[in-house]
Amino acid sequence: MKRIKIKDLLAHGEVGAKVTVKGWIRTFRSNRFIALNDGSTINNLQAVVDFENTDEDLLKRLTTSAAVAIDGEVVESQGKGQSIEIVVEKIEILGDADPDEYPLQPKRHSLEFLREKAHLRPRTQVMSAVYRVRNALAYGIHKFFNEKGFLYMHTPIITGSDAEGAGEMFRVTNFDPLNPPKTEDGEVDYKEDFFGKAVNLSVSGQLEAEVGAMSMGEVYTFGPTFRAENSNTSRHLAEFWMIEPEMAFYDLDDNMDLAEEMIKYLIDFAMEQCPDDLKFLDQRYAQEQKGKPQNERSDLGLLERLDFVSKNDFERLTYTEAIEVLKRSKPFKKGKFKYPVDWGIDLQSEHERYLVEKEYKKPVILTDYPKDIKSFYMKQNDDGKTVRAMDVLFPGIGEIIGGSQREESYDKLLTRMNEMGVPQEELWWYLELRKFGTAPHSGFGLGFERIVLFVTGMGNIRDVIPFPRAPKSAEF
Ligand code: ATP
Ligand code: MG
Ligand code: MG
Ligand code: MG
Repeated sequence: MKRIKIKDLLAHGEVGAKVTVKGWIRTFRSNRFIALNDGSTINNLQAVVDFENTDEDLLKRLTTSAAVAIDGEVVESQGKGQSIEIVVEKIEILGDADPDEYPLQPKRHSLEFLREKAHLRPRTQVMSAVYRVRNALAYGIHKFFNEKGFLYMHTPIITGSDAEGAGEMFRVTNFDPLNPPKTEDGEVDYKEDFFGKAVNLSVSGQLEAEVGAMSMGEVYTFGPTFRAENSNTSRHLAEFWMIEPEMAFYDLDDNMDLAEEMIKYLIDFAMEQCPDDLKFLDQRYAQEQKGKPQNERSDLGLLERLDFVSKNDFERLTYTEAIEVLKRSKPFKKGKFKYPVDWGIDLQSEHERYLVEKEYKKPVILTDYPKDIKSFYMKQNDDGKTVRAMDVLFPGIGEIIGGSQREESYDKLLTRMNEMGVPQEELWWYLELRKFGTAPHSGFGLGFERIVLFVTGMGNIRDVIPFPRAPKSAEF
């Protein structure tokens, strides 16, 4: 018999049908009830064993996480919550899981503990729910942009450009690090890195995506991104995924509109695709909130929050206005912010979260940041001090999107690159885009794991990617 997935069986199974299911045992109770899961859904299928007529050795092997194939008949379920279950006719053990050694028991483990078991944690309800939501969001991204006529563009992973100029690149070498080539001064000759060129893993696909925008009009890239972050926070990884649309003939307002529309689309899409997973995560979120001090609790449940964000306009204000708001705020006056607030600072997560969670109680888009804390490629405002940047700030996280209108003037861009020490020799092609048919254009970067964090209500970015790459978590 052909195997049927548990998700399909629970949705469409007809009483009386004979079926084959395969999966891993979540629990086996009273020598009788198997809760079986195959990863297709958060819901388990109940398979009822006739223990009196089943070999005792076989019963002993029905342990948590053993892999089994079951033939059975679909019957109406006696239990609550589920309409059907199966009565086991034949059971085959595909792979045992010795209960004395198997590390994950049905009781709830801490997420920290599960991180050390990245190869087994997708068998837990919480992680499997997160991965399915992650998958839906990735699908939603391609769907959203393709429906809008954007072209999906692959940008290089090995590159010579450091878009952010923040010095957070992982270098790529193809020489033996213990025996590196040396310059005449005896220094490591990094120019020998990659067939004679210094290269690194991409920190952003933006500069190359601009090439796409300035020829194809509207493009996006969605690829792995690498940053040698030494910050050990709950929102940074050394390897993450970024969605970067880049559009010709868009100004900053068009850019903000697109970002807002995209986020709302993604939230709606995840709710439509993963109702059961999100219901489970909503309950989990509610429990987590209970354990927090009153002033740190979210006013809304997870699903309520998703619904709210998808239905309400984001607040839009300038960086300069935001600094004024922060200076008038209670935590500022009472000295509760850890980092000082003054015009010119790069906002910290605590400031961003204050604006979102306490002041406006909705997502916030800040624009027109001081040019000295932003990258060289952003379009300069006439005030000589600020650039047409935008950051989208979300509750619980802070920044989830950074973007801008790009500088389209060759002269202004060149001057800014020189001021900031950005090497022209490497970015000559980027400059040439401003020499031949330059045009206003804009784009942004959405950290994929940050939107997954928001939609799943998880607290740590290490728990929304299958194999987190961060300091102290490189075991896998
Ligand atoms: P942050 O202020 O959080 O360090 P950033 O301003 O350095 O972020 P950008 O260069 O603006 O980040 O990158 C665009 C987006 O990529 C960010 O808004 C964020 O969502 C995501 N992002 C940046 N760095 C990381 C990281 N180390 N891990 C996960 N996502 C990241
Ligand atoms: Mg950063
Ligand atoms: Mg930032
Ligand atoms: Mg940013």
